[in-house]
Amino acid sequence: MAEIERTFLALKPGGIERGLLGEIIGRFERRGFRFIALKLTMVSRELTEKHYAEHKGKDFFEGLVSYTTSGPVVLAVIEGGCAISVAREMVGATDPKLAKPGAIRSDYGIDVRRNLIHASDSEESAKREIALHFPDLIPVVPNRGSFESKISTGTDMNITISKK
Ligand code: UDP
Ligand code: MG
Repeated sequence: MAEIERTFLALKPGGIERGLLGEIIGRFERRGFRFIALKLTMVSRELTEKHYAEHKGKDFFEGLVSYTTSGPVVLAVIEGGCAISVAREMVGATDPKLAKPGAIRSDYGIDVRRNLIHASDSEESAKREIALHFPDLIPVVPNRGSFESKISTGTDMNITISKK
């Protein structure tokens, strides 16, 4: 059985503005992932700079931060089998022009800045990004049973509603 993982997703301002929220979230639900945290919020410049710290100093950094803070975003944590790698595959290549058809970035976009969605790129990034955006999330409970059994019992549900 695939290892149960959690990963962090962020729907960028363009997708929200274009009314693609349900469409994109629905893809992860239909694939079999469970949303365990979800909030619609504006992220501060400071938090965005922390989130994208690895890109500080690159020529696109300023534009990336301005864009990310330009409107509401939806931040989420999903859980399921091999969530980190599967979500990255569903999101597709950074540049939508190079993403394969069927990937979110390919199906809904063309511009590298406005590439709709962020997904953590590794286990380390997922842990860091979840802690950064959802510091109150209940941590994974070891040996708590399969993903399927959790769907039916619905335990550990942890919905976060933005305080702003
Ligand atoms: N980005 C950009 N211009 C570039 C490269 C990246 O605006 O030339 C943006 C793009 O929106 C991307 C984000 O910066 O999603 C982070 O870049 P990264 O290389 O980490 O891509 P990702 O992990 O999102 O695929
Ligand atoms: Mg990245």
